[in-house]
Amino acid sequence: MPMQIDEEIKKREDELLNLLKELVAIRTDVPPGENYEEIVDFLISGLGALGFKCEKIKMPQDVYEVRQKQECLRGERVNLLARRDVTGGTKARERLTIYTHLDVVPAGGGWRTDPFEATVRDDKIYGRGVADSKGAVACLLTALSITEELELEQKYDLEVALTTDEEVGPYSGLCYLADAGFLTGKYFLCMDGDNDGVCVATNGVIVWEARVFGRSCHSSFSFIGENAIEKANLLLNELLRLKGVVERRTSKIPCSQFLRELAGVERMRAVFNVTMINAGIKENVVPERCELRGDRRYLPEERLEEVLRELEECFKKATEKHGIRARWRFKPLYPPMFTEPSESFVREVRRNASAAFRREMDVIGVQGSLDVAYAVQKTGQKACAFGVGRSVESNAHAPNENVRLEDLLNYTKFLMLSLFNLDRDD
Ligand SMILES: [Zn+2]
Repeated sequence: MPMQIDEEIKKREDELLNLLKELVAIRTDVPPGENYEEIVDFLISGLGALGFKCEKIKMPQDVYEVRQKQECLRGERVNLLARRDVTGGTKARERLTIYTHLDVVPAGGGWRTDPFEATVRDDKIYGRGVADSKGAVACLLTALSITEELELEQKYDLEVALTTDEEVGPYSGLCYLADAGFLTGKYFLCMDGDNDGVCVATNGVIVWEARVFGRSCHSSFSFIGENAIEKANLLLNELLRLKGVVERRTSKIPCSQFLRELAGVERMRAVFNVTMINAGIKENVVPERCELRGDRRYLPEERLEEVLRELEECFKKATEKHGIRARWRFKPLYPPMFTEPSESFVREVRRNASAAFRREMDVIGVQGSLDVAYAVQKTGQKACAFGVGRSVESNAHAPNENVRLEDLLNYTKFLMLSLFNLDRDD
């Protein structure tokens, strides 16, 4: 059977590429993200023909207004939810949610080809979103179409969620589907990501800001005022001490090979950053205010309350110690994600990914944060992520985004192995 599968997939290569070209041509770059309904309608025609019950789920206006509205966004946030149950069979079935997002980041400059007219060159396809993550959508439809023709048996009841605004956040279509109770799978396969390994963990993220106050006056007699920048510098030094403490913490989950090679970092690491500073209006005016901002990436093993308490304590102690007048606040964004690597679903994804790509796929964690973490925290689903592109080579979010044609075929095979029973001797 496996040999036959490879041939069946290879036969569909042109079809897969044409489908991907059509998906790329539907402009879902966000901001503004204004063509979601068009791409959802396109996908409904494909999935509907394969027997999926498709639902168009628009984020309600009141929810949008409160949680996602941004000046730069236009049009309705239209998500797709498609379900198809196992037919026949006697075994108890479990439901699997398969997810990725339909939006892409803006093209930007520096492309050698038209970013919205996907182009094949030297065994790769180039275009915005081919790796992140319309390629996976094209593979999914192709896998479903092949398995339909071969009349293969579904392993799970399938629930496909293809959603909006992942790239802008903060309240993506997936977050909404989770909150509104639309995600009902026991397991959650995230196709957003790369094929460097099977991702079971992501860091959580909190952004912070602090306003340090001084007293403005003419700089020629600055000694009668209070310089907010100088005060902020004292605070900054205390924050950097906290950074030293925080960044010694590591997870039990290894990083991707890329980070291991690039930075010699073996395991996921907690991070504290000061990333913005803003103060002053003129050289001869003692600044009245200095604003610092940054973020804190926390490990799946850390608890949000603990992390917040540690931050609070640091700001409080620093300002007391140096007599700094300041106000600060912390805003938790996405939580961390974590699924035990020994979980049977993870082992199965890993086995299928390794078989399809003919290399051993490690279980890894990523430093960044995902809307998936928000969703599965809500739903309690066992989740892991495995995508079609390569983390460095595919240039996701950069010019000349690409994916190898062989990776598209391998990914199609991965999905077939994951979703269908192929181990029968036909
Ligand atoms: Zn993505």
